Amino acid sequence: MRIAVTGGAGFIGRHVVARLILEGHEVIPFDIRSPEFDGPGMERLVHCDLRDPAQVHNRFQGFDSVVALAADIGGIGHISHHEFTILSNNCTIDMNTFIEAARAQVKRLVYASSACVYPTSLQAGTSAPRLKESDAWPALPDGGYGAEKLWAEVALNHLGREKGTSWFAARFHNVYGPLGTFEGGREKAPAALCRKVALALDGESIDIWGSGDQVRTFLHVSDCVDALVGALTSPFVGAMNIGTSREISIRGLAELIIGISGKDVGMTFIDGPVGVNARSCDPQLAEAVLGWTPKVSLEEGIEETYRWIASMVR
Ligand code: NAD
Repeated sequence: MRIAVTGGAGFIGRHVVARLILEGHEVIPFDIRSPEFDGPGMERLVHCDLRDPAQVHNRFQGFDSVVALAADIGGIGHISHHEFTILSNNCTIDMNTFIEAARAQVKRLVYASSACVYPTSLQAGTSAPRLKESDAWPALPDGGYGAEKLWAEVALNHLGREKGTSWFAARFHNVYGPLGTFEGGREKAPAALCRKVALALDGESIDIWGSGDQVRTFLHVSDCVDALVGALTSPFVGAMNIGTSREISIRGLAELIIGISGKDVGMTFIDGPVGVNARSCDPQLAEAVLGWTPKVSLEEGIEETYRWIASMVR
């Protein structure tokens, strides 16, 4: 297949591009920036700003599929301070991408949605509900980022009905792994904690936003890529959770990383943005429809990620 990957120079994008090339596909990454780290397929990167309709016009002609990963995204700190910018950037990226994918009559449009589409009201307690796909409505998504992802799913639904486009929205739940941003303000919790622990000396303490009691599930990037590859050839049309049901608190995640480091590092809990209290994922639909289950345990995946980040900060 000839596959366009938007956001192809990003974290998940580079892993997806590498895997699809390995599987024998012709892959062209599109991105506004150059990759932070080199890798397979990056020599074919097409630089373009997907917010600009003129730069996207006719870009997907001749492609069989589009994997739409491009987004203005970051960790909770970045997202909570740039709600409108993220909303407007991602609305324009997504609308331009969807219009051009339909114009090119691609056979499959796979879109990166998010666990942030789910109602915050379901995630305010201390026990983490295993959110299933139908829980997204009635809607109360998480901030401008979550609202935009849900809006994009609505747009895809109408696109499919009106133009016949075959679409799939992967609701990712906290993807982590090597090659992810780990500094600069856009890093997510696992990468930020790995960096802090890697830089800490014995006897020092790392800062953690909030009480550390917030609960999440985390998905290794190779499992995420497996699901996306499966979605490309699946006939399923709609939105699907791509995540694990292995819940852990942020404090528990930090303890895991400190244990892996072998250091004597403490934790200091400070004020900061924390997001919803407790969220988990029901992955049963992905298991039933894609035959997909995550393979990498949190312990294995975090150890690999910590070692990579520690080698980078050194
Ligand atoms: P990332 O920031 O590493 O990758 C996104 C890429 O999009 C970047 O390379 C960025 O340069 C590119 N981009 C941004 N604006 C652009 C524009 N105007 N034109 C062209 N390219 C542009 O993030 P990621 O973690 O790889 O996320 C990929 C997708 O998965 C995103 O849509 C994100 O919302 C979604 N997602 C990720 C997670 C996660 O935990 N990583 C969770 C839920 C959803």
